Amino acid sequence: LHHAKAAGRDTHRFYAEAMNAEAVVHLSTRSGLRRALERNEFLVHYQPQVNLESGAVTGAEALIRWNHPERGMVPPGSFIPIAEDSGLIVPIGNWVLAEACRQAAQWRAAGLSLSVAVNLSALQLQRSDLVRTVTQALADSGLDPLLLELELTESMLIQNTDQVIDNLRRIKAMGVQVSIDDFGTGYSNLSYIGRLAVDKLKIDRSFIADLTSNHDSARITAAVIQMAHSLNLTAVAEGVEDAGTLEALRQLRCDVAQGYFLGRPGPAEAVERAARTAIPFTVGA
Ligand code: C2E
Ligand code: MG
Ligand code: MG
Ligand code: MG
Repeated sequence: LHHAKAAGRDTHRFYAEAMNAEAVVHLSTRSGLRRALERNEFLVHYQPQVNLESGAVTGAEALIRWNHPERGMVPPGSFIPIAEDSGLIVPIGNWVLAEACRQAAQWRAAGLSLSVAVNLSALQLQRSDLVRTVTQALADSGLDPLLLELELTESMLIQNTDQVIDNLRRIKAMGVQVSIDDFGTGYSNLSYIGRLAVDKLKIDRSFIADLTSNHDSARITAAVIQMAHSLNLTAVAEGVEDAGTLEALRQLRCDVAQGYFLGRPGPAEAVERAARTAIPFTVGA
């Protein structure tokens, strides 16, 4: 602002103001995130995951939402990166983990054996207390470790430090499932899949979106499903938006699917209802 007063600095001032507007949103988001945890402004929505052989809802992905007092429902895409920059993703992510475990244990108590998938951030995966945090969330909720799944992305495994490898080994030893999210979009070094004992590959939505109209996407999807099966992994498709895509995935013997066509992310009760009323696919159809 001091410099902006000088003659001929209009352009500078323009950029400074534009930058400030963005910085103000960023800073208010950052301090807002701090308060949001204390004031319970976060909630978790759940999106059903459907077994493509039986049609049964077998689990759900936990997706964080921020119910901001002035901005309304803020999607994770606009605050997770800021939470990651500031390190706040660790307490926020731990809260999601605890909440998701509590919910899955509640489903179990209500007679539904549904798994819950929780997205992890790189910062969480690198921490030496991750195993303790996961153990605590399971102990507090009483959830069977087999019903918890942690989602990682390929990029988080590029810097597979000793700490990351040790964390994953110990998490796997507990019986917790590990999946690779957005598979196919990251750095394609496949060596970690065998080495790190991953359980599931979630084929990225970008391939599923045009599966029925784009030959390349169809061939990539088919190849990933085959690769998953030959490695004894479960293939999961994300972003299924129509019946044709669902049918194509069944033809390709994809194991599990998730997407707006099968159910949008929503309150836990919606998943519970879907799990109780799911109409099985006609076998062989
Ligand atoms: P993701 O883990 O890949 O989650 C899937 C995203 O795709 C979700 O967006 C979901 O609502 C959306 N989606 C599901 N089905 C469809 C579909 O059929 N069509 C379309 N167009 N979209 C679909 P959402 O909830 O906005 O989350 C975005 C991303 O934010 C997530 O991507 C994940 O990377 C991150 N995220 C969400 N919750 C958490 C969390 O608790 N911790 C961390 N670290 N990241 C999270
Ligand atoms: Mg995910
Ligand atoms: Mg994904
Ligand atoms: Mg993603």
